[in-house]
Amino acid sequence: MHNCPRCGAAEGTKKFVGPFCIDCYEFRIRIPDKLELQQCKRCASVKLRGEWTHFSEKKISDWVESKLKGEFDSVELAPDWKGAKFTVEKDGEKVQIEKELNFSLNPDICPECNKKSGGYFEAIIQLRGPDARISKYAKLFTEMLEREGTFISKMVELKEGLDLYAGSTKSTLAIIKRLGLTYGISTSLAGQKQGKRLYRTSFSIRL
Ligand SMILES: [Zn+2]
Ligand SMILES: [Zn+2]
Repeated sequence: MHNCPRCGAAEGTKKFVGPFCIDCYEFRIRIPDKLELQQCKRCASVKLRGEWTHFSEKKISDWVESKLKGEFDSVELAPDWKGAKFTVEKDGEKVQIEKELNFSLNPDICPECNKKSGGYFEAIIQLRGPDARISKYAKLFTEMLEREGTFISKMVELKEGLDLYAGSTKSTLAIIKRLGLTYGISTSLAGQKQGKRLYRTSFSIRL
């Protein structure tokens, strides 16, 4: 008759791993004391490995898993990432161990939302043409810019059309090209920031 050398539990009354009962056996699993991520309270983006990225459960799970180290064969995370169920194979037997994770998403504001709320823009997209086409393209630009991680900070209705103030010149140009639109381009100096000249680019688009 064998007893757990640590707590005295008798073999057969519970699961044993080697000489120890499952509660006393020390699985070598290392979990960080804290698993913290910054999350933008406006757009739900998450800062992962120093970079802001669109919220995705998969990306967060991958990150959490990458922080868990040790002698386990697989791990299943709780949907809120506050717990992990490790599967360890020991002596041909599968043992499951549940651990709590000190996971939290800390509210923050991502740089894009910060710029957006400050009315920041780099480019003006001047949509000109029939109203129906203007609204269609205003919607398209808004959606496509957001997918690129930037934004429209302002829309100005004019009698000749609609002006969209966009957070990124590079993304704006990429979208215009993807949509196959013809455009005119003009650049103006908008000021200086830390000794660097700031330019604003206007794209005039006939729809
Ligand atoms: Zn024990
Ligand atoms: Zn954001």
